[in-house]
Amino acid sequence: MKHSTVADQGLYSGLIRLHILHHAAEEPIFGLGMIEELARHGYRLSPGTLYPIVHGLEKKGLLRSKRRRVNGKIRRVYSATPRGQKALRTAKQKVRELFGELFER
Ligand SMILES: [Zn+2]
Repeated sequence: MKHSTVADQGLYSGLIRLHILHHAAEEPIFGLGMIEELARHGYRLSPGTLYPIVHGLEKKGLLRSKRRRVNGKIRRVYSATPRGQKALRTAKQKVRELFGELFER
């Protein structure tokens, strides 16, 4: 993530993908909402950074998009596909394992 922070050196790109997938698995999300959500967690992404990530996940079949009216505007919303849900479950196990190493030793 070139644009998120100076110091991350690309370490957070997978975390950001997981974060997007997690929220898209819970409810349909749209790009701007996702930018706000990630900002809440300290990841500053521009639309020019977020959309290629989201489109990449869509291309891999982990997300699918459809157009939906949100607050009177037509927006493209993204939700996790069954494949995305499965990938998320696997990734969560890996995160749990990493978490254990990072914090429990
Ligand atoms: Zn979140």
